[in-house]
Amino acid sequence: MILPDKVKRIIERLSEWPSIGPRQATRLAFYLVGRGNGSLREAVADLNSLQDIKLCENCFFVHENSGALCNICGDSNRKTSIIAVIEKETDLISIENTRKFNGRYFIIGPLSRLGVLGVWQKNRLDKLKTFIQRDLDGKADEIILALNPTTGGDFGATILVKELSPLANRITRLGRGLPMGGEIEFADDETLSEALAKRN
Ligand SMILES: [Zn+2]
Repeated sequence: MILPDKVKRIIERLSEWPSIGPRQATRLAFYLVGRGNGSLREAVADLNSLQDIKLCENCFFVHENSGALCNICGDSNRKTSIIAVIEKETDLISIENTRKFNGRYFIIGPLSRLGVLGVWQKNRLDKLKTFIQRDLDGKADEIILALNPTTGGDFGATILVKELSPLANRITRLGRGLPMGGEIEFADDETLSEALAKRN
């Protein structure tokens, strides 16, 4: 093949990233090569620094604090007993942007179409249960299943209701209004605020 092995390897690597196909990966690889040594070194240093990022012990969101908790879980102004279960970090950002939610989060990870939790997701769920037992005396006030309105989200909700019912006074889901098959990540602030307000 006409490409140097090093470039090929980068293209393969970039193709594994979300939303990046082989064609885009190739374009990105040439962009990186074309940036020149100095700016490439900076980009590499930035990527390297991600190794210092930690995952919050409670919610699994990213942080770089000296303790075990992220900025949200460490914020005493937020309600500990209202927990929004979400699939992805980007969903957390979208909900935070509405400024309509003052509880906390729990990132379960993307739910598969078949509605089966992976081993690491079961481990996360166990941690949530332990947290509720230990820090909330065994009952959360409310667990909001803020899952994507997709087949995976629906299946996941069924599992989570079963698993978490004994541990919450009420379990709610985001109100309809989010387009079916759409994703929280891409919902506009207004739609998402509405879905939060109409949770049931
Ligand atoms: Zn946290």
